[in-house]
Formats: sequence, structure tokens, C-alpha cells
Amino acid sequence: MTRDAERTMQFLFALRSAGVTDPRVLSAMERIDRALFVRGVFAARAYEDVPLPIACGQTISQPSVVGLMTQALDVSPRDKVLEVGTGSGYQAAILALLARRVYTVDRFRSLVMQARTIFEALGLHTITALVADGSHGLPDQAPFDRILVTAAAEDPPGPLLAQLRIGGIMVLPVGQSDTVQTLLRVTRKGERAFDYDELRPVRFVPLVEGLGQD
Ligand code: SAH
Repeated sequence: MTRDAERTMQFLFALRSAGVTDPRVLSAMERIDRALFVRGVFAARAYEDVPLPIACGQTISQPSVVGLMTQALDVSPRDKVLEVGTGSGYQAAILALLARRVYTVDRFRSLVMQARTIFEALGLHTITALVADGSHGLPDQAPFDRILVTAAAEDPPGPLLAQLRIGGIMVLPVGQSDTVQTLLRVTRKGERAFDYDELRPVRFVPLVEGLGQD
């Protein structure tokens, strides 16, 4: 077996061991090379199941957490998805293989520009990456079938709940930013009816209001 094939097998094994079993999610994660989204010395660790530092003091999430969040989002090929927290662009690239359209926003311009370059190189033309404060959502494109937030808020932001289509699902980490947070799945049952499922403990960088300097 080649070194690449062995790495891929270990990567997929780690995902399965962590509970990522949806074949569509596993196949999307097999197709998107995480090493493209990690720079410099950390690129060598891209296939390990660990979060890694990216620019602007942010992190690319642990692959098993990306897998579990994507699986919990239950994306279908007709869905329009909003991701808050583009970061490296890795999660958005995976969503793009599962959904019809992906909007992803980050408060750091440099992260958005970098992610756009990678999406272009991969031919992922259904992703629109924008510089915006995602705590307000993306009102121009609402409603969304699915919303994925990859930074932690104390509570689900009201504008995001409002921009979720009835029947839609949002997955997000909630809790104090300096402690372990809880991964929450919110299902919108009706105009004012939301179901909340607590999935597992996670640790994310905080959702910060306003645009960043870089
Ligand atoms: N999904 C990313 C990892 C996200 S790290 C990946 O696949 O690599 C969290 C990201 O959320 C950071 O890039 C941070 O800048 C961004 N973020 C934090 N608060 C935000 C806000 N209010 N609006 C938009 N992005 C925000």
C-alpha cells in the first residue's frame, strides 16, 4: 500500500472510531485534502485527528469534530447552507460536496481571501465566501435550510434562529468561550417552535462581534 493510501485509511479509521458513520460525509472527507488548508510546519500533521493553528490566531477544527458536525447537520443535495466561521475553508469545502449552495462568512478578510483561492483551485464554484459578522447571519440570502456555526456563542444568536427555514437544522457550539462548550442541534419546527438536542462536549474559539483587523 502507498503512503498516501495508508494515510487515508488511518484518517477514515479515526473518523469512524469517533462515530462518523454517514457514508456521504466519509466520502466527502476522503475527497477533500485537509493538507491544502493547513500552512507551513503544521501541514505535516494535517491527517492527524487534532485541531491545528491557522492564520489570525484561529484554528482548523479536529477532523472528527468536522465529521460529527457535518453528520448532525444532515445536509441534502438541495440544501442552501450558511457556515459562520470560514477559518481555513476546510469545513465549507466538505459542505460544498453535500449541498446545492454554500455561503460561508468570516470576520477576517485575510482568511476569506485565502479560502477563496483554495475553493477556486479545487473548482468548488458553489461556495460564496464573504467578509461579514456572522452573528447577524446573512439576511440577503436567508432563509437557509442548514446553518453551521464553527465558533462558540453563549446562546444561539437570534438572527441565526430567525434565518433558519422552518424544518431547517442548525448545529453550533454554545457556552462560555473559555471553557468546554456543548455542541447543540437546533431544529426549527415552526414559526416560534425550536427543538434543542445536546450532542457532545466540544471546544471552539469564540464567536466575536464585529470585523477583525487582518
Ligand atoms: N470552520 C473553520 C474553522 C473555524 S475557526 C475551518 O474549517 O477551518 C472559527 C472561525 O470563526 C475563525 O476563523 C473566526 O475568525 C470566525 N469567527 C469568529 N467570530 C465570528 C463572527 N462573528 N462572524 C464571522 N466569523 C467569526
